[in-house]
Amino acid sequence: MSLATMHPAISQSIAEQMERSSWIRRMFEIGIQLRKERGAENVYDFSLGNPEVEPPPAVLAALGRVVAENRPHGHGYMPNAGFPEVRASIARHMAGRTGVPFTFEDILMTTGAAGAINTVLKAVLDPGDEVIVLNPYFPEYRFYIENHGGRVVPVETDERFQPDIARIVAAIGPRTKALILNSPNNPTGAVYGAEILEELDRVITEPVLVISDEPYRPLTFDGLTPPETFRFVRRAVVAWSWSKAMAISGERIGYLAIPPHLPEAAQLRNACTFANRILGYINAPAIWQFVVAQVPDATVDVSAYQAKRDLLCDALNAMGYDAPRPQGAFYVFPKTPIADDVAFIRRLQAEGILAVPGAGFGRGGYMRLSLTISKEEIERSLPGFGRAIRGCGL
Ligand code: PLP
Repeated sequence: MSLATMHPAISQSIAEQMERSSWIRRMFEIGIQLRKERGAENVYDFSLGNPEVEPPPAVLAALGRVVAENRPHGHGYMPNAGFPEVRASIARHMAGRTGVPFTFEDILMTTGAAGAINTVLKAVLDPGDEVIVLNPYFPEYRFYIENHGGRVVPVETDERFQPDIARIVAAIGPRTKALILNSPNNPTGAVYGAEILEELDRVITEPVLVISDEPYRPLTFDGLTPPETFRFVRRAVVAWSWSKAMAISGERIGYLAIPPHLPEAAQLRNACTFANRILGYINAPAIWQFVVAQVPDATVDVSAYQAKRDLLCDALNAMGYDAPRPQGAFYVFPKTPIADDVAFIRRLQAEGILAVPGAGFGRGGYMRLSLTISKEEIERSLPGFGRAIRGCGL
């Protein structure tokens, strides 16, 4: 809906944000139209980041146990930060994984990573404060930052989509309050190396906070384990969610981990707990808190994503695309054969293929293809990718 068709009761600001809103959403709408025109079986939707696989059996079994237990007051409000025993269990798990002596107080249960990021931004931002995001970036960050009066400062990554420390240093100013990291990355699939995190640690000083957004951490390929952010970046907090790892994105369960070594840890914990409440999230979903506490490491079968990555990247590269293999998450981020990514996305649409232009992530000349589509659909889509690149005269 455009500004011109908005009702006067709707705020000008939200109307403007909707106009600028994400390509992912637009693709969703174009997809509905294309399915009507061509039939659903002739549309290949690479645009959504919604896991198409079922949650791991261990997760469903834990859910069954939690429901069967039927705890007294198990569906009621709880302390704003979550059930203390759940937080204690996550803290033990995190302490074992990271070496940081987390206790239950350092873990705030949230409505997914989105809830965790909004909570911490609400806690640290005053109007006009700046938040650095590494370009290309998940487009919702812009809204999360602006929700709390912050200003987005995009900083380009290097040619391998790794953080560029010199550019970050140049972007840090007196109003900088936070930098958002996301590894494994949406949209690029890059995993940040330990050396880069060490360098980042050297240039991030009080009061700047690193918000490490990690919903894709367990989704890596070729046996790669991403370096533990907490081991390298002293001023990091982690926004975690099980949306992707467990394929439960509709359940909205995650947490914010605030390490006790931050000088402002106690104040930040209190501010975040309060922010989580006044933003209206109040409590993370009760049943799911108990489920994830039982099986925090359960992860969908990553090998299925890896097989689809290999199939798609090999086929696209053979056709003449430049499609590097992502190291993690479930996205491929090839260059578009012509510089105008939006024009190329339209060519793909003519073949029934839905992809998100890189411009939607702040980096034109690329496109994001999500591996949440089935293997069989990838196979059937390939001739269309071939026609689209040949149509560019390449
Ligand atoms: N961060 C990134 C990079 C994402 O891709 C997403 C969802 O797609 C989120 C955060 C939001 O995660 P959640 O659904 O757990 O709130």
